[in-house]
Amino acid sequence: MAERIFIGVAWPYANGPLHLGHLAGSYLPADIFARYHRIIGNHVLMVSGSDQHGTPITLRAEDEGVEPKEIVERFHASFLDTWEKMGIDFDLFTTTGTRNHTETVQQVFLSLLEQGYIYKDTMLLPYSDQEKRFLPDRYVEGICPHCGHKKARGDQCDQCGKTLNPIDLIEPRGKRDGSKLEFRESEHFFLKLTSFEHSLLDWIKRQEHWRPNVLNFSRRFIEDGLKDRAITRDIEWGIPI
Ligand SMILES: [Zn+2]
Repeated sequence: MAERIFIGVAWPYANGPLHLGHLAGSYLPADIFARYHRIIGNHVLMVSGSDQHGTPITLRAEDEGVEPKEIVERFHASFLDTWEKMGIDFDLFTTTGTRNHTETVQQVFLSLLEQGYIYKDTMLLPYSDQEKRFLPDRYVEGICPHCGHKKARGDQCDQCGKTLNPIDLIEPRGKRDGSKLEFRESEHFFLKLTSFEHSLLDWIKRQEHWRPNVLNFSRRFIEDGLKDRAITRDIEWGIPI
């Protein structure tokens, strides 16, 4: 009997063209998997889309002196062109700019809030006196406290892969102008990741078909302990809540 196969492929940020690494890492393997299942008669749904929100987009827009909308439209068109040239066949390749996406995000947000998995708290965030505003995490660079990488971002260190907050960085500075930053309190909504540790770990332990390195990496990640994380940002370009 035909099986139903859902393939959720990573959503690329619409802030630049795709390169070979994207294709080899995410899209080609997914396309091969989809083709295999279509050939043997299964019902395949392969879905992805342009991630049009987040600071990678606003950073690029500010660098070019244009509106974020112009950036995301340009690169969404470029993604569609790439899929066609490469023969990669999505059943749906959408964007985070649709009404459906906005409504779904708002529904998920409210549902988590009602169940107590989202709460309000304040955090210390980098404030640029020069730009007279809070800088989102990706606008901040500094030294990684874990591995000493000099160009760690305010959300993550690309050298050691650790998740960071801007305040964790040593000698934080504005990425765009190298300006000195001060930390001020700002109110945000936090996702209570800590309440999912046990159920996630139980679920991971039950997976029998995962490769051992994937299983071990995921287990260790959760066993090291999850941290609640702010899911709102001090920027205009996003899903309003
Ligand atoms: Zn690091």
